[in-house]
Amino acid sequence: MRPNPIVPSVDFDQDGVQHGFLRLPYSRDDSAWGAVMIPICVVKRGDGPTALLTGANHGDEYEGPIALFELAASLRPEQIQGRAIILPTMNAPAFRAGRRTSPIDEGNLNRVFPGRPDGSVTEKIADYFTRTLLPLADYVLDFHSGGKTLDFLPLAAAHQLPDPAQQARCEAAMLGFNAPYSAMLLEIDLSGMYDTAAEAMGKVFISTELGGGGTATARSAAIAKRGLKNLLIHAGILEGALEQAPTVRLDMPSDACFCIAEHAGLVEPCLDLGAEVQEGQLLAKIWSPGRTGLAPVPYRASCAGLLAGRHFPGLVQPGDCLAVIATVVAG
Ligand code: CA
Repeated sequence: MRPNPIVPSVDFDQDGVQHGFLRLPYSRDDSAWGAVMIPICVVKRGDGPTALLTGANHGDEYEGPIALFELAASLRPEQIQGRAIILPTMNAPAFRAGRRTSPIDEGNLNRVFPGRPDGSVTEKIADYFTRTLLPLADYVLDFHSGGKTLDFLPLAAAHQLPDPAQQARCEAAMLGFNAPYSAMLLEIDLSGMYDTAAEAMGKVFISTELGGGGTATARSAAIAKRGLKNLLIHAGILEGALEQAPTVRLDMPSDACFCIAEHAGLVEPCLDLGAEVQEGQLLAKIWSPGRTGLAPVPYRASCAGLLAGRHFPGLVQPGDCLAVIATVVAG
């Protein structure tokens, strides 16, 4: 296969702290021999495990970039054994535009894996992760939140995997991160996800959903920072003691967890995030936006659990994810 055109300005085998870029050639009107510059920090000391830490896979999700820019600015080699590879803005063009997808090619980075070395800018980024960065990693943490259109309970997540031993390592890492909620996440569509690429390579992979609405809060940023530090300690890379609080274990056993809108209009939420949900309970109403005198359309829960996610903007379109319900795992 062709080589990837991305050139790193850091040496992944060098001890110490390096701040640099992945330089991805991108010729355009305002820069004929220009490049997309993706910030990267490598902190390494001696032999040991490697953690690959990413934020802004979707460019409008902010807890990851906040925690990772802070880690890159503060982590010192003498605090660690092994290596941390830190990319606060994995899809840098999308992040700089404040968008989920790239303004260059409309690329949704978390839907184009494994990527292509000769594809679009977004596909080239994915290919570099697949063939260069993921093979270096033992632990992979990819920060997500709901972005502009969704909002979530603050949760760390792992997936059901075919290999029970690998799944157990991922679940242990999820619990090590120690978000207020810890979820076995069911994906609507696994194809093209970074998660799937990392898991297929046998990595210990966890992700998060820490909030949303296209912003961060003081609470969600603090959860991200504490979880990041916890994960590095759990991996044996960072010295120190885990900072652990009780976490609520969640599961998403079936498609019934997702409530999808079939009407356009004005959303009236009937429950807030974290509320207990009974099967059949009213989750939201959608009011017709164009005239008075019409009854709203009720949307009811197809299963019982907690309201773990919700549509964020006040207006909704058919096909939008209106609500996500997770079941509470006793224990
Ligand atoms: Ca996301």
